[in-house]
Amino acid sequence: MVHDLYQEIILDHSKRPRNHHSMDDANRQAEGYNPLCGDKLKLYLRIEDDIVRDASFVGAGCAISTSSASLMTESIKGKTRAEALKLLEKFHELLTTDVSVSQELGKLVVFCGVRDYPARVKCATLAWHTLKNALDGANDPASTE
Ligand code: ZN
Repeated sequence: MVHDLYQEIILDHSKRPRNHHSMDDANRQAEGYNPLCGDKLKLYLRIEDDIVRDASFVGAGCAISTSSASLMTESIKGKTRAEALKLLEKFHELLTTDVSVSQELGKLVVFCGVRDYPARVKCATLAWHTLKNALDGANDPASTE
């Protein structure tokens, strides 16, 4: 039952991704690529006083990668850099370990089912790899490989 709801949220975000546009006043950008699936995205951030004021992305990918980027941009807005990195860590734990679902993740728990499909984990984490590069100010494209 709960997983049907999760599926629905993922589907909704893949069909109508939030924050899916480029950003003219972004002060951080990074690109990500998942060669395994062909997912590509470009992430834009506007960071002021160490807080993510705005986040958006463009790109094309499968339903999992698109919905993950959509939910990620929603989740990190208003967070400090450290909080965003903490969330990244928790999200990675959710997808790769058996730890009980943390409430800090909020809506991001919808991806817990991806854990059972190792190939799709890279689709779900692509946006987050890209986020890390954007926060670190790295210029090299993020790759899940
Ligand atoms: Zn994918």
